[in-house]
Amino acid sequence: MISYGRQQITQADIDAVLQVLQGDFLTQGPAVPAFEEAVCRSVKSQHAVAANSATSALHIACLALGIGAGDLVWTSAISFVASANCALYCGASVDFVDIDPSTFNMSAGKLEEKLILAEQNGELPKAVIPVHMCGQSCEMREIKRLAEKYGFAIIEDASHAIGGKYFQSNVGSCKYSDITVFSFHPVKIITTGEGGIATTNCERLAQRMKLFRSHGVTRDDQLMRLPSSEPWYYEQLELGFNYRMTDIQAALGVSQLERLDDVIDCRNKISERYREYMAGLPLDLPKVHDGITSSWHLYVVRIRLDEIKRSREEVVRSLLARGVGVNVHYIPIFSHPYYQELGFSSVDFPEASAYYKRCLTLPLHPGLSREDEQYIAQSLHSVLLEA
Ligand SMILES: *Cc1c(COP(=O)(O)O)cnc(C)c1O
Repeated sequence: MISYGRQQITQADIDAVLQVLQGDFLTQGPAVPAFEEAVCRSVKSQHAVAANSATSALHIACLALGIGAGDLVWTSAISFVASANCALYCGASVDFVDIDPSTFNMSAGKLEEKLILAEQNGELPKAVIPVHMCGQSCEMREIKRLAEKYGFAIIEDASHAIGGKYFQSNVGSCKYSDITVFSFHPVKIITTGEGGIATTNCERLAQRMKLFRSHGVTRDDQLMRLPSSEPWYYEQLELGFNYRMTDIQAALGVSQLERLDDVIDCRNKISERYREYMAGLPLDLPKVHDGITSSWHLYVVRIRLDEIKRSREEVVRSLLARGVGVNVHYIPIFSHPYYQELGFSSVDFPEASAYYKRCLTLPLHPGLSREDEQYIAQSLHSVLLEA
């Protein structure tokens, strides 16, 4: 089976991990700050806080921004559930913004309409979490303008988008946001096994996220409330978690990050070849808007179901039977049973519902050979055009 995404591991990656295993620190050693500094240099942010997953990083990002019971957080209707769950972990309520069908990202226009209504009802969000679907940045200039007007914080869920660019700035530089979160799960652009990181240019937010990452406990004299000179002394200041990344993971991350530019280049080239191979098929191909460099985490096509004789499910089953590991990203968050019980309805998110009915993710990762790419295209031709 050609999987839709998978890690690429080099000998340099293996050597980096072995070096940690043979050293003094498996966790809480020098590899984690080294990875954090490398990510800061790469995305041009001032601070980075590594965590054991992007989900954890989203959670401590919300906590650092002071999100709690009684607060509202909005995210995109089409994303992985973690983009919304992070707010619920903090006791806040979640709502969704419908997508722009040309990018699958949160629509800035729909966001503004929803904010105007929310202001009238006194229900403005404390934070908005735009998600850079497939690796293409959201319209951050517009979202930032709305944040200043309506007074909400921005956490970019850039789980798909490390290495991406938005009008000269790197995704993660936080030029248009308070915090940006990346994921290093093996299907993503670069990996640490499990892992995530939050970048920010605010020292206080970085310090708060570090506190929440490690039990809410500190040994920093500047932060401790009670005077003590005992060498073993530490204080718990908040109810934190153990969300730490290990040195084993961080060393893999440093090694993977060194290849980021090549990986992004490779993903862009595959997507360009796909555009050529898929021409003439009953598919709407993904587009990247001017001024944006996508990191191409996912290649999502939308099947023109009215032009073919099969259902999307039949297409997926036929492709899987041929060894083409297609997938669907994502089931709208509001349609999961857990969220249905919170009272969400698909009629409020028509674009997300329409998108979900016909989207299909094709395999895209640096491990694909030209033969794989051509096999995928040929399989699509057969499956979509067969009577
Ligand atoms: C993968 C993903 C996450 C969660 O990442 P983990 O590192 O697996 O916790 C969150 N949001 C989006 C959009 C993702 O794709």
